[in-house]
Amino acid sequence: MRVSVALDPIACDGHGLCALWSEAIDLDEWGFPVLHQDLLADPRVLRGLRRAARACPRGAIIVGEQVSEEVGSR
Ligand code: SF4
Repeated sequence: MRVSVALDPIACDGHGLCALWSEAIDLDEWGFPVLHQDLLADPRVLRGLRRAARACPRGAIIVGEQVSEEVGSR
């Protein structure tokens, strides 16, 4: 399973709540989130990101899961 996380910069209002819930999110100097993609492999970090997505008042954090299938040769 592959997990992708995206921040919608149009929806985001820079409330900064997300950074309280996830160590994968820092805030820039204007209070807008910066996502550390390199941390996404850690399940604990992903749990925090899901909480951050639920807490975001603007729905600006999109956590998507994709089940990857191996394609065998015939
Ligand atoms: S909580 Fe949502 S609206 Fe607020 S800074 Fe984070 S992503 Fe943006």
